[in-house]
This record gives sequence, structure tokens and C-alpha cells, in this order.
Amino acid sequence: MDCIFCKIAAKEIPSKIVFENERIVAFEDINPQAPIHILIIPKKHIPYIAEINEEDISLVGELIFTAKKIAAEKGLTKDGFRLVFNNGKNAGQEVFHIHLHLLGGRKFGWPPG
Ligand code: 5GP
Ligand code: ZN
Repeated sequence: MDCIFCKIAAKEIPSKIVFENERIVAFEDINPQAPIHILIIPKKHIPYIAEINEEDISLVGELIFTAKKIAAEKGLTKDGFRLVFNNGKNAGQEVFHIHLHLLGGRKFGWPPG
């Protein structure tokens, strides 16, 4: 399958991996938008959050749990951090394999741009 994040999960494309288990990989974003910008992905190929189904509920929960653990390891818990899923055109999704952005190390605006 011609999916860049499947290739990262399979180590066919190099990345700076910060966490991995049987179901999940987390790695540094190649174009960071904050001092800490990590992507947490399932190894399973799911193109859109809009396409997850009931069997994916615990997997998506584990993405968030993993983000929380990495945030703590990176010292982001006290000052805060942002978690983002972009879904589809209006949200600016560019890679069609679901990924949770963990952003931290600076203050973020709200509402988002
Ligand atoms: P999206 O806009 O789809 O939510 O975010 C895709 C993210 O993937 C972007 O922040 C982009 O910088 C990142 N990205 C795209 N290609 C690569 C890659 O080959 N390696 C890594 N580490 N990040 C990538
Ligand atoms: Zn994929």
C-alpha cells in the first residue's frame, strides 16, 4: 500500500520513533509546528477518523493514552499541551492514515486558525 505512515510503521521510511508497541507507533513530525510535535498512529491503516468503527474504539483510546504518557515524559503536563486529529479537506488533513498530533512547548491560540 502506498501510504507514507504505513511505511514509517514498517520502518521502510526512517523516522525518529519515540514510542512503539504492537499496535501503535509515535514519532517526531518532520515539520514541527511547536518545540514538541509528535504524531501517534495506529499500525492499522485507517484513512480517516470519520471511518473508524466500533472495533477501533480501544485503539483510538490507546492513541490518546499514549499521547498523555509521552506528554508526561516530555514534561508537558504542568503547562499543558494540545492534541489534534485533522479529518478531511476543511481540517487540512494531508496524510490519509489517522494520526494524533501531540503539540507542546509553547502557548497555542484558540480558536484555531
Ligand atoms: P495532517 O495535516 O495530515 O494532519 O498532518 C500530517 C503531518 O504529517 C504533518 O504535520 C507533516 O509534517 C507530517 N509528515 C508528513 N510526511 C511525513 C514524513 O515523512 N515523516 C514525518 N515524520 N512526518 C511527516
Ligand atoms: Zn497507512
